[in-house]
Amino acid sequence: MVIGLDCAAPWLVLDRWLDELPAIRELTQRGVHGVLRSCDPPITVPAWSVMTSSRSPGSLGFYGFRNRKDRSYDRLSLADSRAVRLPRVWDLLSLRDRPVIVLGVPQTYPVSRVNGVMVSCFLTPDVETSDYTYPPELRDEIEALVGRYMIDVPDFRTDDKDRLLADLEEMTAKRFRLAEQLLETRPWDMFFMVEMGTDRIHHGFWRYFDRDHRLYEPDNPYEGAMLAYYRALDAKIASLLRHADDETAILVVSDHGVQRMDGGICVNEWLMREGYLVLKEQPSEPTRLSPEMIDWPRTTAWGEGGYYSRVFLNVEGREPEGLVPQADYERVRDELKQQLEALGDENGAPIGTVAHKPEDLYSEQRGIAPDLLVYFGDLAWRSVGGVGTGTIHVFENDTGPDDANHAPEGMYLLAAPGVSAGTGAERDIRDIAPTILELLDEPVPAEMEGRSLLS
Ligand SMILES: [Zn+2]
Repeated sequence: MVIGLDCAAPWLVLDRWLDELPAIRELTQRGVHGVLRSCDPPITVPAWSVMTSSRSPGSLGFYGFRNRKDRSYDRLSLADSRAVRLPRVWDLLSLRDRPVIVLGVPQTYPVSRVNGVMVSCFLTPDVETSDYTYPPELRDEIEALVGRYMIDVPDFRTDDKDRLLADLEEMTAKRFRLAEQLLETRPWDMFFMVEMGTDRIHHGFWRYFDRDHRLYEPDNPYEGAMLAYYRALDAKIASLLRHADDETAILVVSDHGVQRMDGGICVNEWLMREGYLVLKEQPSEPTRLSPEMIDWPRTTAWGEGGYYSRVFLNVEGREPEGLVPQADYERVRDELKQQLEALGDENGAPIGTVAHKPEDLYSEQRGIAPDLLVYFGDLAWRSVGGVGTGTIHVFENDTGPDDANHAPEGMYLLAAPGVSAGTGAERDIRDIAPTILELLDEPVPAEMEGRSLLS
């Protein structure tokens, strides 16, 4: 029984709040637990697929939700389930006729055929019109049980915090209600669910909770909102655990952790200032950067927004109107890396930006990896892709208020027969799929990159 909590941080769940969360605490008293190091980048897509396939983003061939389809400037593809070409743990178990329940795991939309049931994830366009279940008729059963099912909360980057809280409560209640229904009515050797509410509440409420956040105000009305959500969640987990017996292995895992967000870096504004990026015309107001705005023959590099920045070089013979000669590629990339890493906050103070070269992160690179994966302030700052802000540092996010970014330290907790309790070593997110297979006495494919938590 795998309970995935998107964005749950070990320092909160397994430490600071542990005494407030009796179901989790009870599991820690009989299981091994610790830090689960996420992949690079530590982001929902690709992290859950890395966990469930035990393959790195380079092997999977996607480096975030949006990826370049080819070397053209304008073709992006969205990494939904169709981008995942390697088997995930439910695919392997289905082939072995082991019954599975898969509920809400990111990158399961569109749903695939499994030996059991699947309910898709936050990438589902619309529950009214999208086929979000396998088999299709499961949808009627869900709607009879909970009414309109909530895959995700709409618009989590909102100023309407009361609405967001109400939606989170409703979504999580419906998901766990459905989880219990499936556990009761379906055979299962593996149950794997992911709750997204933990991630959404971090992004929506971090400023009210974290005293070090720039926008924190003492005694604000939402100070306890995150903890209250987690306590309600813990009660739902307690109820779920009643469907497990003494022989059931329980895993509580997250895909990455969380940290406060200090602000945003307008990566393309910076690239323009340094002469790497040239536009045909200077926008007078904040504008989304689109390929037709760029003067390509004079452009060396451009970047994308998001929790981290994907920076691409415009290389001669590789991109349609490439400028950087192949022979200069490494020199230009090193110079860019060095300059990005030296970029400070709005006062010039160092923030600890790291610009990774993909070959340092991945032993193989399928698809099109960025030339640099840039973690501004080691992810304490997000990347803003828009131009026309007239400034490098911004404190209002371009996609709505968002107070938190991801941290590489996720969590694991394994309570299973024969596992002794205590704090365990830091483990890798790729270790989860081999653990599940070993617990079910199934062979672990040689291509898997992790090793079982039991070993
Ligand atoms: Zn996530």
